[in-house]
Amino acid sequence: MAATDEVYLGYTTDEATTPFFREFLDALAEETLMKSVCTECGREYLPPREYCQDDLSKCELKEFKEREAKLYSYTIVDFAPETLSSKAPYVVGIGEFPSGLRLTAHITNLMSVPEVGMDMKLAFDEVDERLVTYKWLV
Ligand SMILES: [Zn+2]
Repeated sequence: MAATDEVYLGYTTDEATTPFFREFLDALAEETLMKSVCTECGREYLPPREYCQDDLSKCELKEFKEREAKLYSYTIVDFAPETLSSKAPYVVGIGEFPSGLRLTAHITNLMSVPEVGMDMKLAFDEVDERLVTYKWLV
C-alpha cells in the first residue's frame, strides 16, 4: 500500500512518451522491472534505454530479476526539488547488482549513515494506482 510519508524517485503512467517507455511503465505497474538489451552489441541498460549509446541500435526490453545489490555510491539530498523539499534530507543510492548493472533509487529505511558496499534489496512500492516505483531497503 501507499506510504505517502516516503520519498519517491519514480514515474507516473502519464509520463510515457513512447511505446517503449509505456511498456516499461506498464510492466513496472505489475511490479516487474525491465532492463533493455541492445539488439546489435548486447549491451544492457538499467533503467532501460530505447537506443544503445554505443551504436545507436534499437534495444529490446527484457525482465530484470535480480534484487540483491551492494551500495556502490550514495548522496544525501539536502536541497530537494520543490515537490520533495519537505522530505529533505533524504538518501539516494546507486546499487550494483551481481551482473554489474547499477540502479539509482531512494534508500528508504536507513537507521544510520549508509556505507558503501552494504547489502541492499530492491523493492517495489505502490504509491497510487498510477505510480509504482522501486526503492532500496537495507
Ligand atoms: Zn549496442
